[in-house]
Amino acid sequence: MDLLNTLVEKGLRRELPTRDEARAVLETSDEELLDVVAAAGKVRRHWYGRRVKLNYLVNLKSGLCPEDCSYCSQRLGSKAEILKYTWLKPDEAASAAAAGLKGGAKRVCLVASGRGPTDRDLDRVSKTISAIKDEHEGVEICACLGLLSEGQAAKLQAAGADAYNHNLNTSEATYSDICTTHDFSDRQETVRQAQSAGLSACSGLIAGMGETDEDLVDVVFALRELDPDSVPVNFLIPFDGTPLAGEWNLTPQRALRILAMVRFVCPDAEVRLAGGREVHLRSLQPLALHLANSIFLGDYLTSEGQAGQADLDMIADAGFEVEGTDTTTMPEHRTDELVAVRRRGTGTALPPNA
Ligand code: SF4
Repeated sequence: MDLLNTLVEKGLRRELPTRDEARAVLETSDEELLDVVAAAGKVRRHWYGRRVKLNYLVNLKSGLCPEDCSYCSQRLGSKAEILKYTWLKPDEAASAAAAGLKGGAKRVCLVASGRGPTDRDLDRVSKTISAIKDEHEGVEICACLGLLSEGQAAKLQAAGADAYNHNLNTSEATYSDICTTHDFSDRQETVRQAQSAGLSACSGLIAGMGETDEDLVDVVFALRELDPDSVPVNFLIPFDGTPLAGEWNLTPQRALRILAMVRFVCPDAEVRLAGGREVHLRSLQPLALHLANSIFLGDYLTSEGQAGQADLDMIADAGFEVEGTDTTTMPEHRTDELVAVRRRGTGTALPPNA
């Protein structure tokens, strides 16, 4: 297929495909599915080989959120029967993280429900980061605490956070259909703040909320513009007690096409197979490893994932290997950007970059 050859060539060069090319991936037939997976798999292997990075979620504060994101079981007014609790203490969070790290995870994602953190919340998270890093050399910590205000990303960075997650979730055009308490630009701004503070940005989407192909292309192109290092691809888990209950819109084949499209548009990003993979991809999960180079290990924030050992077996059976802490996840050109040591301005003979 000419389309797939073009997409592979562009992906290997990190060249942005056209919107039509991205949409055409979503429109391919079931007969073409393995060709699509094979083509996107070439791009995945070019940037990440056969490595799979494991990430482990720790829900620091569950439920009781004042925001109204309609996909979320922790939202304002949610009737979903999830665990609800306020902030875990640093030692409780550290022992939760230890279980994931023992299982093979390389990154711990510290998540809290809410619109955004207070300064007191940041102090708690800072202590938690120290508690985890003191015990586990080489662990990466990503914080996911909602919208950030001025200066908060820098505080997290100084506390030892490596990354910050804030998803765009859906297209700008449909954002107000899924949430009324904040908007798309608030989310973009938080990702930019994280990047400006030197944190590795993690930002992705949720598919299966009734969006069109055009919406999916829109949000993935918006992500490419922000250029996060990690792009989690979630598939809606339609919790009873939320407005999107009963929205089972995805097939395993469509989930694979979406992942392939994300890989072609963000070829050198860490594409992460995230929430909903078990219930939507079902027996096709191993094929998704040819597209994504990263997955969550164990349970999600409010729902149960498949057993960690089943994931490890799946990765080995599909011919992939778990990425160790001695390996740098990102391709060299991306880590170069992250650690651009200042050699101008104060303390040098060169003028500042302003
Ligand atoms: S996604 Fe985050 S901000 Fe939105 S309702 Fe859920 S916990 Fe609150």
